[in-house]
Amino acid sequence: MKAAVVRAFGEPLVLEERPIPEPGPGQITVRMQASGLCHTDIHAANGDWPVKPTPPFVPGHEGVGPVYAVGEGVTSVKIGDVVAVPWLGYACGECKHCLTGWETLCLKQQNTGYSVDGCYAEYFLAEAAFAAKVPAGVSPFEAAPLTCAGVTTYKAVKVGNVRPTDLVAISGIGGLGHLALQYAKIFGGTVAAIDVTDEKLQLAKELGADIVIDARTEDPAQVLQGCGGADVAIGLAVDDKSFATAYAGLRRGGRLVLVALPAAGHLSIPVFDTVLNGTSVIGSIVGTRADLADVFALHAQGRTRVSYETRELGTVNESIADVLHGKARARIVLQP
Ligand code: NAD
Ligand code: ZN
Ligand code: ZN
Repeated sequence: MKAAVVRAFGEPLVLEERPIPEPGPGQITVRMQASGLCHTDIHAANGDWPVKPTPPFVPGHEGVGPVYAVGEGVTSVKIGDVVAVPWLGYACGECKHCLTGWETLCLKQQNTGYSVDGCYAEYFLAEAAFAAKVPAGVSPFEAAPLTCAGVTTYKAVKVGNVRPTDLVAISGIGGLGHLALQYAKIFGGTVAAIDVTDEKLQLAKELGADIVIDARTEDPAQVLQGCGGADVAIGLAVDDKSFATAYAGLRRGGRLVLVALPAAGHLSIPVFDTVLNGTSVIGSIVGTRADLADVFALHAQGRTRVSYETRELGTVNESIADVLHGKARARIVLQP
């Protein structure tokens, strides 16, 4: 089978021929139909973050396809079931985080396409217990972006405690942001969408954004303050400055949810303003298996739309360049 491999940080991925992986106990092998290109995969390939993966590795954590083989003891899925393999590849199930609904904080977690090989391959392994069944009626190409971009932003909207009278600023209308916008609307918010490309601003309008802010020509903080300030701002842009701008756009009692992870990302917060304004700054990391089930259910009900384009696995390097230069649809979905 073909797999796209990071052999060294910052270098193009290499298309390698590898044996189809055989599932161990509790594991499954999935035949890839669709594999979303999350910006996290670009950070992984560049070694952008303090905790780094170890090359050679296969990125990808939005992998969808039918189960091809099952390992010993697997009962939750059978051969042929269509499943989605997310970033949270494994959690212990026993620690305080796991037992209190926060498996995404488990210290023993494994991350697909980061600490273990991921889904940029014609076949990939998963722990059966962490592979989500994709409901009938949800296409693999839509399921793939929902598996990270969807679950992460659904969770971020919940963590931000979006309420029906809230003004919600969505900073960055890419793979994550175009879904965040829709979840914020589902939770009843009025949405201000911020981006720096015409295509993404146009997409935000099509998806029902109430206010659209072009950060190239307008100061998002000023526009938001002109509307009374944002109750919730969700930071999804891969740009350090955008967090400070989103923070400055909050009203009193506002919540800034940090999601994007630019290399060496840093946010400096004035203590006085934060205290007097009762501001919260909250980090949010992906979502749980239960969140992902919600995300698929909402999509099966026709309540979300996924903006994507499909490309062959072999185009992975051009596809990464296109994401970095804002030349792709909200999500590129790789296929074999
Ligand atoms: P993406 O490249 O598809 O989207 C980023 C968007 O931000 C683009 O539309 C871009 O035009 C826009 N942008 C750039 N600069 C901007 C600015 N100054 N103001 C407003 N918009 C701006 O990326 P993505 O796949 O949506 O991922 C976004 C980030 O989220 C990445 O850093 C990724 O690693 C991170 N991420 C975090 C989690 C988590 O659990 N916390 C999960 C998945 C991804
Ligand atoms: Zn745990
Ligand atoms: Zn992701």
